[in-house]
Amino acid sequence: MIREVQARLGCTADGKAGPQTWAAIHGHIFGTSRAVPAVGVDARSATNIATLHPKVQDYARALIQAAAQQGIAIKVISGTRTYDEQNALYAKGRTKPGSVVTNARAGYSNHNFGIAFDIGVFDARGSYLEESPLYKVVGSLGAGLGLEWGGNWKTIEDQPHFQLRPTWASLLSVAHMLAELRFRQGVGKDVFA
Ligand SMILES: [Zn+2]
Repeated sequence: MIREVQARLGCTADGKAGPQTWAAIHGHIFGTSRAVPAVGVDARSATNIATLHPKVQDYARALIQAAAQQGIAIKVISGTRTYDEQNALYAKGRTKPGSVVTNARAGYSNHNFGIAFDIGVFDARGSYLEESPLYKVVGSLGAGLGLEWGGNWKTIEDQPHFQLRPTWASLLSVAHMLAELRFRQGVGKDVFA
């Protein structure tokens, strides 16, 4: 059914209703070309969004719009990390000063494959809120768009974290998904193919 709707609305008929399909459905019913008046994406978010897989870029922008619709200002504060950047982060609190910030070394974080990003909630004065109940609101907005939200993880709850799980990984454990992601990166295969 969703494929027929997508074809009628001129969207890519992939059978998966992402942000573009929902916006097209909304626009069709309410007679506007887009679901919400677009808020500008700030420079910091734009820089981080540019590091993501093109498919995930759409979701990140859609999440900023969805949060803005609820009066919540968010920024994408982290996107894709290279293996070197991941290892530098992993060294913190281990072989380098500071406290431990991640349990993932290079190739073992979803952030290494363009599918994950972290958001920050900002108050009306533009100050970053490290903790806020609004993270849960944004979490449910992201889940509504089809993103996986780190706040739902049982092992390490990670409220700023969102990722787009590839369809092929829907039934895979995190370890198996990461192994396939590393393989695909090694052979240059698209992570969503
Ligand atoms: Zn993250």
